[in-house]
Amino acid sequence: MAYEAGGTPLMQPTSQGSTRPSRVCYFFDSDIGNFHYGPGHPMKPMRVRMCHSLVMNYGLYKKMEIFRAKPATKREMSQFHTDDYVDFLYRVTPDNLDAYVREQARYNVGDDCPVFDGLFEYCSISAGGSMDKCDIAINWAGGLHHAKKGEASGFCYVNDIVLGILELLRYHPRVLYIDIDVHHGDGVEEAFYTTDRVMTCSFHKYGEFFPGTGELRDTGYGSGKHYACNVPLRDGITDETYQSVFKPIIQRIMEQYQPTAVVLQCGSDSLAGDKLGCFNLSMRGHAACVEFVKSFGLPLLLLGGGGYTMRNVSRAWAYETGLASGHELSPIVPVNEYYEYFGPEYRLDVLPSNMENMNTRAYLDKVKEQVFEQLRHITHAPSVQGHVEPRLAHDMALDDNDDDKEDPDVRASQAVKDKRVQRADEFDDSDDEGEGDRRERTWKEEAMEMDAEVPKAPSAVQEPSPQAPMPTATTDTAESAAPPPAAEKTGTAPAPPVPAPHAPTHTPAPSF
Ligand SMILES: [Zn+2]
Repeated sequence: MAYEAGGTPLMQPTSQGSTRPSRVCYFFDSDIGNFHYGPGHPMKPMRVRMCHSLVMNYGLYKKMEIFRAKPATKREMSQFHTDDYVDFLYRVTPDNLDAYVREQARYNVGDDCPVFDGLFEYCSISAGGSMDKCDIAINWAGGLHHAKKGEASGFCYVNDIVLGILELLRYHPRVLYIDIDVHHGDGVEEAFYTTDRVMTCSFHKYGEFFPGTGELRDTGYGSGKHYACNVPLRDGITDETYQSVFKPIIQRIMEQYQPTAVVLQCGSDSLAGDKLGCFNLSMRGHAACVEFVKSFGLPLLLLGGGGYTMRNVSRAWAYETGLASGHELSPIVPVNEYYEYFGPEYRLDVLPSNMENMNTRAYLDKVKEQVFEQLRHITHAPSVQGHVEPRLAHDMALDDNDDDKEDPDVRASQAVKDKRVQRADEFDDSDDEGEGDRRERTWKEEAMEMDAEVPKAPSAVQEPSPQAPMPTATTDTAESAAPPPAAEKTGTAPAPPVPAPHAPTHTPAPSF
């Protein structure tokens, strides 16, 4: 066991960890920390590298397998996104922006979702994790739940979650998506709004808050009716009150829906003291969701998401990485590259504040009852007709011959990479981390402006063909990219998980 200087263990096995070892795969690409949304932008990809530094210095690398994700290709992104949108992300750079004025408006790229150096590479890395052969896979660079089929939104460009779920649907009849980000998981909900193959369940702040969707009564459409679950919450929710809705609702969904895989978006802007959030969860309260979902023992994909107070984001995700691997981290932060961020206490915990909890018992009970009522309508463990085809041979051939590997534009040339080198002021950018600084107010004001807009109704209201096992997320690209509908209907249970016939999608990374 690793010890820090004082002799305190850096971690202890949790009771669950000691009884049921899982294969935990952790994806990390150190390049993620080199991307910048721009000065003053609240989204800082470096938070993922800070988290990784904690993970390594706590010694968690001994408890799980660490991989550098294979970056997602244009073709993989097009499983959900439109070809023209992906192509735009691929081609646009800060230097050629003027040539794409119309596209910027069409794809909602600009202030919140700026074009920055290495944008496509950043999207590729975020969407690069994989559940291949893991019990639990972790990708803190992912979880970008607002991205739409043909549009960026809320700091998200490529929806790695939708792509990950589509991949899971090749082998799993039912996937449960849970979202504990302070914002509604609108992009994922919209993608699977009309299918019962994916149940989405989002716990979020609702009311004058981005993105404006996620009402209790929005429950899905067509075959997906009742398979989208929204738990709208008010400001200041505490650990105890959050768990009083989270646990019973997830328990009931597990019993009724019986998913065969779970994707948990762990957006940490639901923590107390987040720059854009308004909840009052402690690190342990946030992590209780991870522990609870893990306790069902299903294949689990843990993803990041929002989180704008970097030191707290890294604390929570490091702690949750520990829990995933069956270990409880010591409350004393070990020395690491970002040690000064954790002073003056150098404690791991994110503590709640004294903000008022606007979620009354009566309100939460009402929400819970209404969700239970919705769940009574869902078919018990809806099954897929026929089995889902694994990846096809022609897919592999195309992958090998991938046109996005070489491009005359030469993505990420050395010049571009040089520009992305960590800024000298990044380390002690401590004003970013202060409470109530100018930027915080600016972005909050902007968030309020966005809230004032009329919320967009989910657009994926097309009824899927009863023959097509794949949900409408793939409608536009179904002919070229999605696996064909199961032609050979066996009438039997869905095929058991099949190891993907393609080569492992990741290579071990000599992290550090
Ligand atoms: Zn968020």
